[in-house]
Amino acid sequence: MTNGQSQDNNILEVKDLKTHYPIRKGLLRRVTGYVKAVDGVNFTLRKGDTLGLVGESGCGKTTTGRTIVRLLEPTAGSMRFNDPNLGWVNLDQMSRRELAPVRRNMQMIFQDPFSSLNPRLTVKRIVAEPLIINKVASGSELDDRVAELLRVVGMRPEYMSRYPHAFSGGQRQRLGIARALALNPRLIICDEPVSALDVSIQAQVLNLLEDLQTDFDLTYIFIAHDLSVVEHITNRMAVMYVGKLVELAPTGELYDSPLHPYSEALMAALPIPDPRVRERPIRLPGEVANPANPPSGCYFHPRCRYAQDICAQEEPELRELQPDHWSACHFSEDLSLRGVLGSHATN
Ligand code: SF4
Repeated sequence: MTNGQSQDNNILEVKDLKTHYPIRKGLLRRVTGYVKAVDGVNFTLRKGDTLGLVGESGCGKTTTGRTIVRLLEPTAGSMRFNDPNLGWVNLDQMSRRELAPVRRNMQMIFQDPFSSLNPRLTVKRIVAEPLIINKVASGSELDDRVAELLRVVGMRPEYMSRYPHAFSGGQRQRLGIARALALNPRLIICDEPVSALDVSIQAQVLNLLEDLQTDFDLTYIFIAHDLSVVEHITNRMAVMYVGKLVELAPTGELYDSPLHPYSEALMAALPIPDPRVRERPIRLPGEVANPANPPSGCYFHPRCRYAQDICAQEEPELRELQPDHWSACHFSEDLSLRGVLGSHATN
């Protein structure tokens, strides 16, 4: 999936990515099955993109993010990264040692700003850690760099000697962002970076991330379960369901004219700020499928109101139905689905 773009404009290519966890039972801990947390994900990320990776809890979005930075090991598939110094590298085939210089260009911001910062370390040590580990700076140069990073995320350099408990959730997330920026990365995977914060603070952190993207030429993967959070910060969206990517599209198109019934249901659940619009939410019957024992054919078929016989038999492929708009549904071309404001797809 190249989306018709020159490879040099891309920063990441993920093909058929799978991350399965073995299920072990009995005294001998025999493998009796697999949880297919990520089960064949494909997408290409362009430089400067902010790709929203969305879906219900347990759909595999966090596992996808963690697998890309190799915090988790992939079971199969390929992940190619366009490193500014090394060119294209196969992340999935690199040893830990080979990965070290590439990791400088791929960082992660974690969901929980309370547990992601070591409470026993000072702010200086937390933000400086990547610089120390990678031997990038020491002595007064290190102090200057930490002070600069704190200023960049809107915090005062005088805070350097304090500990994380002295800060609010929003401030702690700013520290997490400063740490992620320390090595001048190209790609940052933001794993639900604002979900643990108050709504008023969420907007500040989102604005900060947007400003930093322009200032530091960053590409983001923004993992979120709350679609209203990602609408304004992303330019493309990928919707996941039970380990699979079911729709990928420019954000506006996905919100206005989804091509996959699951995306339609997610959009219909969003609150509409206009009291004149009275669209009813689409109620999805049943629970999200079990990734250890997913249904046959289209994983979404037991909950889909458009399902037909073929849906239980054949797995739909992710197909490009409009420029840069991909959907994995047998009937995307025939359905007229509702967007977030009740608008319908034109197909
Ligand atoms: Fe629904 Fe069938 Fe499309 Fe799956 S393939 S989303 S079950 S219509």
